Amino acid sequence: MSDQKNSQFQRDPDGKILPTIENFYRFCTERKLMGVKCSKCGAIFTLPRMTCPKCRSIGMEWTELKGIGKLLSYSIVHVSTADYQSQTPYAVGIVELDEGARLSGVIRNVKHEDLKIGLSLIVDFEENTSQEWPQWPRYFFRSP
Ligand SMILES: [Zn+2]
Repeated sequence: MSDQKNSQFQRDPDGKILPTIENFYRFCTERKLMGVKCSKCGAIFTLPRMTCPKCRSIGMEWTELKGIGKLLSYSIVHVSTADYQSQTPYAVGIVELDEGARLSGVIRNVKHEDLKIGLSLIVDFEENTSQEWPQWPRYFFRSP
């Protein structure tokens, strides 16, 4: 019998957790930022995938990321989808994580005038209040 919590992950026939976006968000419910690491060349990516974009080999393994990084680029969003329009203007950025992988997301709790390239940010998680599926927690960036 697999335990209740882990049984929700999408798994292959051997029980390995598949490198899918859905599983990425399931890890977020456990407040874990997970990336995938190529078992051949060692490259790390934030969004799960089956094939390594660098060396084309299959065999990506989950690896937990610290969620610490520096801001590479950002922009301020004034016009958004209906879901997010009430939160505009908000900042979105691309962060280079300590592990070398890049992750994009919303930046919260930082004044827009304080945003600058190279700013240290960490990943945090929040409840998803969206009415639409899936209602898993989202990650965002904030000041450490
Ligand atoms: Zn590779």
